[in-house]
Amino acid sequence: MHELSICQGIVDSVCEAVPEGKVLGVTVEIGRLSGVVPDAVRFCFDACTRGTRVEGARLDIVDVPGRGRCGSCERALDVDALVMRCPCGNPFLEILRGRELRIRSVEVN
Ligand SMILES: [Zn+2]
Repeated sequence: MHELSICQGIVDSVCEAVPEGKVLGVTVEIGRLSGVVPDAVRFCFDACTRGTRVEGARLDIVDVPGRGRCGSCERALDVDALVMRCPCGNPFLEILRGRELRIRSVEVN
């Protein structure tokens, strides 16, 4: 499962970034265009953290809405799908935001 390896990656990164101490909370930004399902990450989190210093930590997921710009008319648009057509007819939007998958902060004891 895709989200399982993503979740494992998050836990590994946290452990690397925080060499000591107990991790109490992790805040992760997940863009709506990232293809990652927040609920699935949440579901995997407990299993992935078991036996690590992240075990028992709170997982906060920040939902990042998609935003894009039309290369033709330069209009900025809210984007909720990877393929979306601008009202001017141009289907090629430059994605400005929404593909994020990153750790925003880690709370350590
Ligand atoms: Zn346009």
